[in-house]
Amino acid sequence: MAERFDCIVVGAGPAGISCAFELAKGGASVLLLERGEYPGSKNVMGGVLYRKMMEDVIPGFYKEAPLERPIVEQRFMMMDKESAVTFGYKGMEWGQEPYNNFTVLRAKFDQWFASKAVEQGAILVNETVVTQCIVEEGRVVGVRTDRPDGDIYADVVVLADGVNSLLAKSLGFHKEYRPDEVALATMEVLKLDKKTIEERFNLEPNQGCTIELFGDATKGILGTGFLYTNKDTLSIGVGTLLSGLIKHKIKPYELLEYVKNHPMIRPYLHGSDQQEYLAHLIPEGGYKSMGRVVGNGVIVVGDAAQLVNAIHREGSNLAMTSGRIAAETILLAMEAEDFSEALLDRYRVKLMESFVGQDMKKYKDSTHHFDKFPQYFDQYIPMMNRAASQMFTVDGSSKWEKQKKIWKEVGTAREKIKIARDAYRAWRVMK
Ligand SMILES: Cc1cc2nc3c(=O)[nH]c(=O)nc-3n(C[C@H](O)[C@H](O)[C@H](O)COP(=O)(O)OP(=O)(O)OC[C@H]3O[C@@H](n4cnc5c(N)ncnc54)[C@H](O)[C@@H]3O)c2cc1C
Repeated sequence: MAERFDCIVVGAGPAGISCAFELAKGGASVLLLERGEYPGSKNVMGGVLYRKMMEDVIPGFYKEAPLERPIVEQRFMMMDKESAVTFGYKGMEWGQEPYNNFTVLRAKFDQWFASKAVEQGAILVNETVVTQCIVEEGRVVGVRTDRPDGDIYADVVVLADGVNSLLAKSLGFHKEYRPDEVALATMEVLKLDKKTIEERFNLEPNQGCTIELFGDATKGILGTGFLYTNKDTLSIGVGTLLSGLIKHKIKPYELLEYVKNHPMIRPYLHGSDQQEYLAHLIPEGGYKSMGRVVGNGVIVVGDAAQLVNAIHREGSNLAMTSGRIAAETILLAMEAEDFSEALLDRYRVKLMESFVGQDMKKYKDSTHHFDKFPQYFDQYIPMMNRAASQMFTVDGSSKWEKQKKIWKEVGTAREKIKIARDAYRAWRVMK
């Protein structure tokens, strides 16, 4: 291993690989360090991969990448204990070029993506844990690893080590996250015959469907569940803020078992076999939980910088875009031979101008709001289900009578005002 590189990237997830790919393509010498046996071996995602941000790195990637299914339908289930109000969109335009998004299995996808960075000239070293950044005179100058030949030096170190980045924390870039700033997600990959998947989800070959689950999927705790179709597997998962799990004394795997056995979900999974069980944290504190992303000789990208849009279950795309912008900034810094915080700060500025910064700002209050007011999930979704059941049950009473009954069940005048106020508040944090 050479002792010195233009850049060291810590972590071979979507953020780190995008950064290493762009840097190597731009002519920089890059070392990509991954603690796992191979890229993707430790990574967890539902996982929807967004075509646009991946194409910004590798145009036409979908012609050769190991993808599962292009998604042509997105459904949303607002679940009560024995019912669900479901809505969604299905469009054939998503099933052909240029596509919208795809399901992927990270263990396969990340390996392929990293191999593309290596083709560009990046050096990938697996099974190597970066234990700390080497700091000299207020500047990050390299990293210390758990290998015998230990220390490696570079002009810039990119921290792409994922949620709860210990390295960024040790530099003082962020504090210990509170339990209401991170979600814990558990998921399973279930083996199911390809044809059965297509019949059950009303799909043609090479079409996929995603279903996002709200309400009783998390027993009313702030969070979401998901059910995604892969080629011959299904991905099912559920994630809630750690604070919710602690408050309700629920274990994450209990929640996953609960959603798998829910009467709205069970029929989709019937006859499938567990292939993998995975658990991972997701940074969900949003814009207000973001720490510093730039210092002298160092840049933080992806989950390590808290870049997740929890409302739209987007993370990989924010990670890839941040990695790409970091690489562009480092190439500029190399030209200027200036790796100071002042120059690298162009990364922060560009990131905030991009959709990443804009979306983080748009939803800056949303997680905190829905965490503070749990009635959206544990009261209003059941209420919506009762209203739908009432309205669609044909029992001889007139629709006027039904409307009146629903309105009465909503509650007293005071309760109605509270609901109107909550609707307004929700609009304000989402607008
Ligand atoms: C259950 C679940 C479902 C999700 N679903 C979606 C989805 O459908 N769509 C979506 O876009 N996003 C989804 N996300 C979020 C998405 O997975 C992340 O936002 C994305 O993976 C972030 O990429 P990253 O490269 O920043 O971090 P990661 O993918 O976490 O990669 C970090 C890498 O750094 C390595 N590493 C960590 N520490 C060290 C160290 N000290 N030394 C060396 N290597 C180290 C890790 O092994 C890992 O490979 C989901 C997340 C979860 C948990």
